Amino acid sequence: MKSKFRDNVGQLIAKGLIVILMCSLTGCGGDSDDNSVTDEEVTTDGTVLSVDSSLFLVDDGYITITTVPCTLSDGTETDCYQIVSQHTPLDHEMGPWCPEYITDGAENGGLWITDDGVVDLDGAFIENLATFYNDDGWKMYDEDTGEVIRVETIEECQGGAQPNPPAEYQNMCAQCLPEWIEAQETYLIPIVPVKQETSIQLGDGPTIDLAGVEYGPYVRGLAFNGVRFDHPADLDVILAAYQVAPVDDAGGHVNNALGYHYHGDMGFSTRITQDDDHAAMIGYALDGHGIYAQLDAEGNEPTDLDDCRGHEDETRGYHYHVMPLENNEFFDCFYGAYAVE
Ligand SMILES: [Zn+2]
Ligand SMILES: [Zn+2]
Repeated sequence: MKSKFRDNVGQLIAKGLIVILMCSLTGCGGDSDDNSVTDEEVTTDGTVLSVDSSLFLVDDGYITITTVPCTLSDGTETDCYQIVSQHTPLDHEMGPWCPEYITDGAENGGLWITDDGVVDLDGAFIENLATFYNDDGWKMYDEDTGEVIRVETIEECQGGAQPNPPAEYQNMCAQCLPEWIEAQETYLIPIVPVKQETSIQLGDGPTIDLAGVEYGPYVRGLAFNGVRFDHPADLDVILAAYQVAPVDDAGGHVNNALGYHYHGDMGFSTRITQDDDHAAMIGYALDGHGIYAQLDAEGNEPTDLDDCRGHEDETRGYHYHVMPLENNEFFDCFYGAYAVE
């Protein structure tokens, strides 16, 4: 069954598939000092791929895509895809996050990021928190029943999410359930990415960002299922409240404002495998550049990544490779201009 909307998207796809070869910023001349070009200033023309909107999973109505005029952070007036997402992945299950009992195994809990790397948040980890963090303030279970103290309602989900929460929200395993939250968010992605000479640092969230510093967006990009690759979780704020806020095996969890979002790529969301053993494509950054998995088919990370974890090749143009979940970050700057309105 083809809806009218689908047809519109089909037209966008046709546009999106056009591969545009553009001069790189330094190779295109136009400035008046053309006759002083030295060898160092001559660069090869780079491949610039426009966003392929057909890769997003729009069929179930949790994502809609339209084309709108937009202005980018460098002043470029262009067209963007306006993507409205309900942050509901239909390509994999969500949860579990917090185990119910301290006797529960790893299959009943999610994953938690520690200084020792990513650990299974099973019942034994909950029971052992005071020892693990060397702090007697931890006690997240009922000694008589062995029941883990978890967020049980939307009110607790909201109350426990504030920094320095009241004591009643401390020593609580933070898990908000997707059915409590109706999230919908609108994203603008430039259809043709515009690479800049300098990068822009991305925001890490209101509790981490420094006052007076200019940051790019909090969100790094979108998976093809419409779920966002989000800024780092503020683990210090969470731990200070004697909370844990695990992600599920897919690297995602739910917060009261945005619903489900990713903190790591665990290979669960839709990915586009590449013919040449390059890492699979997993989504688009908000600057229109592709996002790819950390590792290629041989299990290796590219060795030529820049400070934003990007690099360039003829097939894919400029694109990013994410960090693993244990880094609590995908990548933390953009080399492309992003939409500001
Ligand atoms: Zn989160
Ligand atoms: Zn690559």
